[in-house]
Amino acid sequence: MIDKILDKDNLTKEDLKFLLSLETPEELEKLKKKAFQILKEFSSEKVYLRGLIEFSNICINDCYYCGIRKSNHNVHRYTLNKEEIVDSAIWAAENKYGSIVLQSGERSDSKFVDLIVDIVQEIKEKTKSEILPNGLGITLSIGEQSYEDYKRFFDAGAHRYLLRIESSSKELYGELHPNSLNWENRNQCLKNLKKIGFQVGTGVMIGFPNQTLDDLVNDILFFKEMDIDMIGMGPFLIHNETPYADMEEIYSKRKEEIYKLALKMIAVTRIYLKDVNIAAATALQAMYPLGREAGLTYGANVFMPNITPAAVRGEYQLYNGKPCLDELASDCLDCVVRRIESTGRTIGFDFWGDSKHFKDNNLD
Ligand code: SAH
Repeated sequence: MIDKILDKDNLTKEDLKFLLSLETPEELEKLKKKAFQILKEFSSEKVYLRGLIEFSNICINDCYYCGIRKSNHNVHRYTLNKEEIVDSAIWAAENKYGSIVLQSGERSDSKFVDLIVDIVQEIKEKTKSEILPNGLGITLSIGEQSYEDYKRFFDAGAHRYLLRIESSSKELYGELHPNSLNWENRNQCLKNLKKIGFQVGTGVMIGFPNQTLDDLVNDILFFKEMDIDMIGMGPFLIHNETPYADMEEIYSKRKEEIYKLALKMIAVTRIYLKDVNIAAATALQAMYPLGREAGLTYGANVFMPNITPAAVRGEYQLYNGKPCLDELASDCLDCVVRRIESTGRTIGFDFWGDSKHFKDNNLD
């Protein structure tokens, strides 16, 4: 049965669900093998780096699952200054990262928006070189903003944007968020980003309460329907200062199941969407030390080493168990190279590593 399904060109909803339910090591081996074959055929087996700079944990939102939600008063709030952010970006360029992700809690006041525009412009100018004639590739991950502000970020030089839909089910989205956030807005933001010309990334959390396999199948169909270029998905993890804190025990029992499901989601998404970029999420490593390597072997092709200055890294905890809290960016790079090469893959140093899906759909 599994061989027949993996050989099919057009997978149905039932096929996707079947693949997400695989359990035995032999079946999982076959799934991985297929995902890797598709990756090689439709993209490249190179792993691309994005240096992740978590530049601020100030947030106006109150997502029930997130450790830096505004109601968590135990977090020391910070925003790195422009020089610190630009210096981290220059370090990334000098260390052959090719691309960075600027991520933060959400704010939409004009001071914040102006700061982002300014930083993007300065990073672009200061990282141009013979090797990177257009400077570092910049991805933003700073939440829901207006069409006009997204356009300003794009015009300043950011060319990719990550905004997870968290769940393609409106109902489940409503369970994860307060009423001030709604699914339609988020979906509209994704459409706006596409219209402006960004390479657009989205994704979901895997394993949160009440989510079923059918929901996950619908998530994969949503990625396809929205013509998404990049995917970032990871396991749902409990943060002990959120409304989900009392579920910690239940979740420690579900750990293995959710971890496996997250890996299967990567493989099935790779098999179904073929040419997109898929990140091996840090949350996988928060569950098991070799989680991100496992993500690569299940078909991911993007790795996001944390290059946030170590002094503030501990203050950006979205969930319990975040790894690499006290490492210097330079130690982190050695470790990342070892981790990626241990999976038999090579690193696309000094490349932007754009999504093949985007390139193929946007030939001039
Ligand atoms: N403020 C930005 C960046 C959010 S953090 C935005 O809203 O897009 C990036 C991602 O971390 C979120 O989209 C969410 O999917 C994930 N995340 C947050 N809390 C989490 C948790 N407890 N477990 C797993 N993933 C979590």
